Amino acid sequence: MTETSAPTLHGQHFDAIIIGAGMSGLAAGIRLAHFGKRVLLLERHSLAGGLNSYYTRGKRRFDTGLHALTNYVPPGTKGTPLAKLLRQLRIPHEALALAPQLGSAIHFAEHRIRFTNDFSVLESEIARTFPKQIDAFRRLDRFIRDFHETALNAQPSSAREAVATHILDKRLVDTLFLPLSYYGSARENDMDLPQFAVMWKSIFHEGFARPLDGVYRIIRLLLDKYREAGGMRKMHCGVHRLHVEKNNAPENKKGHVAAIELDTGEMLTADHVFSCAGYAETLRLCSDQAADAGRENIGALSFCETITVLGKQPRSDFGWGETIIFFCDSEHLHYAAPRQDELVDPRSGVICIPNNYDYADGRQLEEGWLRVTALASHAAWHALDAPARATAKHIWHERLTLIARAHLPPVNNTSFTSSIRECDMFTPLTIERFTRRLNGAIYGAPRKCRDGSTQLANLHLCGTDQGFLGIVGAMLSGISIANLHGLKT
Ligand SMILES: Cc1cc2nc3c(=O)[nH]c(=O)nc-3n(C[C@H](O)[C@H](O)[C@H](O)COP(=O)(O)OP(=O)(O)OC[C@H]3O[C@@H](n4cnc5c(N)ncnc54)[C@H](O)[C@@H]3O)c2cc1C
Repeated sequence: MTETSAPTLHGQHFDAIIIGAGMSGLAAGIRLAHFGKRVLLLERHSLAGGLNSYYTRGKRRFDTGLHALTNYVPPGTKGTPLAKLLRQLRIPHEALALAPQLGSAIHFAEHRIRFTNDFSVLESEIARTFPKQIDAFRRLDRFIRDFHETALNAQPSSAREAVATHILDKRLVDTLFLPLSYYGSARENDMDLPQFAVMWKSIFHEGFARPLDGVYRIIRLLLDKYREAGGMRKMHCGVHRLHVEKNNAPENKKGHVAAIELDTGEMLTADHVFSCAGYAETLRLCSDQAADAGRENIGALSFCETITVLGKQPRSDFGWGETIIFFCDSEHLHYAAPRQDELVDPRSGVICIPNNYDYADGRQLEEGWLRVTALASHAAWHALDAPARATAKHIWHERLTLIARAHLPPVNNTSFTSSIRECDMFTPLTIERFTRRLNGAIYGAPRKCRDGSTQLANLHLCGTDQGFLGIVGAMLSGISIANLHGLKT
């Protein structure tokens, strides 16, 4: 069954209950259900996907996240994260219908560096723009190639310090950190070294791709797989409280989740509880924890994003050929939460044009899309009342669009504005509202919990706060933690 049709879940026991139908929860659910476990997936929102979902307005479907699926490799490539995850979920590569990117760029101050899904393009661009640093860049690449970033016991350390032992040019260091931070760092102005290595490989060695119908295809595929494997799910159904009992046995001092209370008041039990809700968010559900538990490890980084739907094709009508542009208009990269009184930090960001993928048979998105992402302050957006927020959205939509257009080939203003069909914008408050992430923290807690274990023997973290990020990362996280804690015995 897709959604459980049971009139009440009260009193039922499951092998595993999963909190959250984001990418990691869906992947963990499929894995457990494949092995015959009785699994229930609980999601507070009406749609699956979490941080990477979609919504519809009229006939138009908007992706909430997806700029690009990272880690792209063509069908038949073995041993990479995407290949492993598809094998574990028993999904054929072709089912994702992934189209590779046309090509992306990093715009850092005066530098323009192109990269594609072929690493040699980036290498030759670095040789062109930073000729004195190319040997250092190659040494850094060799170091990353040999690095075992996915080990569940990998220790956090500073990527900036590690990179500085190879590359002396600070501008090149910032240039390399720009895309990797924006697509996967929960740490301000630095990255954990294992996470830096994950992102280096997933963006520079592997690359970007997207299905023509966006994240919807990925979510449908995961939901179908889960249903076929016998998994149950209940939407609009939040977990309200995890009731904890302490163990007295000396060999196992950890307590355990004895009952799961839903928003509806129903009580369930499970051998294992997997939570994708986040580190502090999960602790705060536990009856043995204070209401502000985990406050020392809450992410501060959040984004806003403008979405502009155009009646023109970006590439053929405007000459905008790049898939993604990471830009930084200041001398240094400031990847940190804006000050509390600053709504948005427009000095750097990401421009994404989802039309610019090599879709099969020359197919194309019917409309043009321009998405612009920048760092935003949760506190500053939170301080505004509803009318002020609406005005601020309008102002920042215009401002970020102008900034983005300065990085794209020039287009006559009237021609651009007259082609706009619809605009939307999300802020840190939108992320918080639809995913319950504290601060709308896009990549969750700065300190990750690699092995997914918690203070309770049968409560396990997966997804963003376990430490594997992005769509592919979150799914791998769900698989790894389900394998480690739910299928080992
Ligand atoms: C704007 C944006 C753009 C992005 N772009 C990309 C991209 O282009 N490529 C890429 O790879 N990644 C991208 N990401 C990152 C990617 O979306 C995330 O890393 C990944 O989806 C995280 O998945 P998750 O399972 O860890 O968590 P989540 O997606 O946060 O899932 C957690 C789920 O738990 C639910 N939940 C929380 N509390 C409860 C509760 N008490 N009871 C029941 N349910 C609960 C939430 O509603 C949510 O559905 C983007 C993210 C955002 C926000």
